[in-house]
Amino acid sequence: MIRIENRQELNNLKKEAIISGKKIGFVPTMGSLHKGHLSLIERSKAENDITICSVYVNPTQFNDSKDFNRYPRDVENDIKLLKTVGCDYVFTPSDSEMYPEKMSLNISFGHLETVMEGKFRPGHFNGVGVVVAKLFNLVKADRAYFGQKDLQQTVIIKKLIETLSFDIQLVICDTLREESGLAMSSRNALLADTDRVFAPMVFQSLTKAKELYLKGENIKTIIEKSTAELLAVNRFKLEYFEIVDLNTLNSIENNLNNTPIAICIACFLGEIRLIDNLVLS
Ligand code: AMP
Repeated sequence: MIRIENRQELNNLKKEAIISGKKIGFVPTMGSLHKGHLSLIERSKAENDITICSVYVNPTQFNDSKDFNRYPRDVENDIKLLKTVGCDYVFTPSDSEMYPEKMSLNISFGHLETVMEGKFRPGHFNGVGVVVAKLFNLVKADRAYFGQKDLQQTVIIKKLIETLSFDIQLVICDTLREESGLAMSSRNALLADTDRVFAPMVFQSLTKAKELYLKGENIKTIIEKSTAELLAVNRFKLEYFEIVDLNTLNSIENNLNNTPIAICIACFLGEIRLIDNLVLS
């Protein structure tokens, strides 16, 4: 695997790929990689000739400087893991490579950036939109791989691609989970040992909601029943538990058969913020 740190090397790679008719798959990450990330690399490897993974902890998408400072970073270990799945290139840009200009850019996603995550992390999706647009321009891939784990992010990226006319195909990949059901996340490593036992309750609340939804229960009751156990543990602080239309991300008021929906949760477990979702399509 080759490590790339600047745009010139990426340009050369793209020129070679065009000449040899090779397709490029791109997996953007913030590093501290786990099996969930590696499953995206494997999917890209299976569908493209060249796979590039970026590792960049983007400062502009953190609305909380404490969260940014303690975000786990271990590029050397990331490189080791990427080699185990045969990733071809890792792009590890510096801040000055990503943000050579001093002015800040705004991309508005309207209502999509103000609900759920957007409500609790103001400015987050603007930061995501700008960095992903920059990465798309730098990497010039044919396909980009994102995890359903960050469901709202996938909707934002779809909008970004349409709005800015990027010539790239978005591929959304399933969420990889631990045996307990806990969605794999770089932040899991930060959980206190005493909190780890509670962490699977996040997924349990989603599966309970799915079960009740499929039985035709009304939305208010589903939310009350699905969150009751979690709320009884005082280490949890629930930010939202919502059942939304998958396309618009609007909360639904009534149980809608035949409409694709997502059940979404965000909560703090101790100091650590966890998100997860289940899609019913
Ligand atoms: P991150 O490094 O957290 O920004 O994640 C990079 C990419 O990996 C995003 O598209 C995430 O949605 C995806 N991802 C994170 N966790 C998982 C998981 N457990 N399963 C599948 N994809 C994931």
